[in-house]
Amino acid sequence: MSTEPQKEWFEKDYYKALGVSDKASAKDITKAYRKLARDFHPDANPGDEKAEERFKEISSAYDVIGDEEKRKSYDEVRRMGPMAGGFGGGPGPGGFNVGFDDIGDLLGGLFGRGGRGGRGGPQEQTRGQPGSDLEAELTLDFDDAVTGLETTITLTSEATCSTCSGGGSKPGSTPEPCGVCHGKGVQDENQGLFSFSRPCAACSGRGSIITDPCRSCGGIGVEVRPRDVKVRIPAGVKTGQKIRLNGRGGPGRLGGPPGDLFVRINVADHPLFGRNGKDLTIDVPITFSEAALGAKVKVPTLEGEPVTIKIPPGTSTGKTFRLRGKGGGGDVLATVVVAVPSNLTAEQRAAVEALAQATHESPRAHLGV
Ligand SMILES: [Zn+2]
Ligand SMILES: [Zn+2]
Repeated sequence: MSTEPQKEWFEKDYYKALGVSDKASAKDITKAYRKLARDFHPDANPGDEKAEERFKEISSAYDVIGDEEKRKSYDEVRRMGPMAGGFGGGPGPGGFNVGFDDIGDLLGGLFGRGGRGGRGGPQEQTRGQPGSDLEAELTLDFDDAVTGLETTITLTSEATCSTCSGGGSKPGSTPEPCGVCHGKGVQDENQGLFSFSRPCAACSGRGSIITDPCRSCGGIGVEVRPRDVKVRIPAGVKTGQKIRLNGRGGPGRLGGPPGDLFVRINVADHPLFGRNGKDLTIDVPITFSEAALGAKVKVPTLEGEPVTIKIPPGTSTGKTFRLRGKGGGGDVLATVVVAVPSNLTAEQRAAVEALAQATHESPRAHLGV
């Protein structure tokens, strides 16, 4: 067979998308497709994103099950089930290990997709489909990034359906035990010497059949809606850093584990401070006379009182003073910069000229020119 199964075939129910049974004839599938495509066509529903999503779903379903060859492969994939392949029950080394990254497709441009991380290990390859990893962005004030904080972000993403609490059944109705697997969620199959266990195809491994699907989510137990997530930001985070929140990504389906949420950090600039590792940096302008004669200079800190540093006589521009423990979690590195006035008063000019008169060594003597 030339048609390569796509990994989304494991997770998408194209028959359900077109509202037909998996035994429907090619003619019925086409008929169902035409009707749905008409109803949900973007031209008929301008600006309606839900209709557009639905239209895409319908189209990709028909792409596969509207094509005899592809439909055969798809049916085969469905028969195997996503986790089939292990001997005697649990999935073994021969099992499929597929990342269901494209569940997040619904989210469109709102979120990127994280990697699968270390998930998908043998213990977690139970029934159901793991939720997608999500990414959100959080912009922090400079101070908050230095000290850390606890905050709440609101993101619109796939979430457990609030109407059916993820169960998929219309409130008031209960799923019926699956008649094929008698509620076990797996089917045993003898093949020569070996006995295979695979997720029950009739109930997708759930063990029960939803007879009256939830109206909000269509029975998948997942909907897209805004939700609040608490995030604890550790002290000292930097722009570009990602905070991983285990299990706060997209909800799993059919009892699968949820994905993770990655919060990408942006830190706003501070008008005075910069950062160098754990330390804060600041430029402290001083006059030539302060540099030459020495001075006491006040330096601001991020929080609390300013600190006075003692500039010794003869300090060059660029010299850095370390103020221990004054920079949130680290130190403040205060670098003095000798400020040169752009305009001199007559009095200042006379004083500088007197200084020039009294200066006999050149600071460039070592250049030898
Ligand atoms: Zn629901
Ligand atoms: Zn079953």
